[in-house]
Amino acid sequence: MKKQVVVIGLGRFGTSVCKELHNLGHEVLAIDQNFERVNGLTDYSSHAVVADATDEKSLKSLGVRNFDHAIVAIGDNLQSSVLCTLMLKEIGMKKVWVKARDLQHQTILERVGADRVIQPENEMGIRVAHHMDSEKLIDYIDLSKDYSIVELVATEKTANKSLSQLNINAKYGCTILAIKRGEDVNIVPLPSDVIRIGDILIIIGHREDLKRFEDKRV
Ligand code: ADP
Repeated sequence: MKKQVVVIGLGRFGTSVCKELHNLGHEVLAIDQNFERVNGLTDYSSHAVVADATDEKSLKSLGVRNFDHAIVAIGDNLQSSVLCTLMLKEIGMKKVWVKARDLQHQTILERVGADRVIQPENEMGIRVAHHMDSEKLIDYIDLSKDYSIVELVATEKTANKSLSQLNINAKYGCTILAIKRGEDVNIVPLPSDVIRIGDILIIIGHREDLKRFEDKRV
């Protein structure tokens, strides 16, 4: 479904969010106080406007409150980022996601009502570390503090074994949700399905169980 999103602050992060939302077909209002940054996004947004996002009157006159979602991507100016977040919540925006530069910034944003706080450098750093930690890990999603879904590439240890032979449910408490082989995705893997080298296994489980399975069996 097409969403209406306002992106405030067109640095590297805001620009990338704005362009991708536009490519995905959403309606994007891009705002920055810097004319050149706004100008650079006219082809990648529905409307690109020069405005001070800490000025309540400007936000109201742009009709920001009619948008479903706001992304505040003012990283370095803590005061502007907090003030803007506070005003967006006060004018009644349901979903305000904000970029923070550090934990202290994140805590303040949560206090003033940000619905989600993102620390892109921190989050990306953690992802890169996980990828370095394991060459078998393709990707992962944390579902909670304890549970994740991981994509692991099958090596010779798992290859040529059927799911029932591996029996990872009983042995490791994890479940194989799907198997990717090239462009094919088997979303209902059967116990008789045999894994080949290079297959990507999509597995859900407790983090510790997933790690045990990855270290011992994949
Ligand atoms: P990144 O680290 O993602 O590159 P920056 O912190 O460098 O992000 O960029 C933040 C952007 O937010 C800049 O383009 C800046 O002009 C814009 N900005 C800062 N304060 C305001 C404000 N009050 N209103 C609108 N835009 C703002």
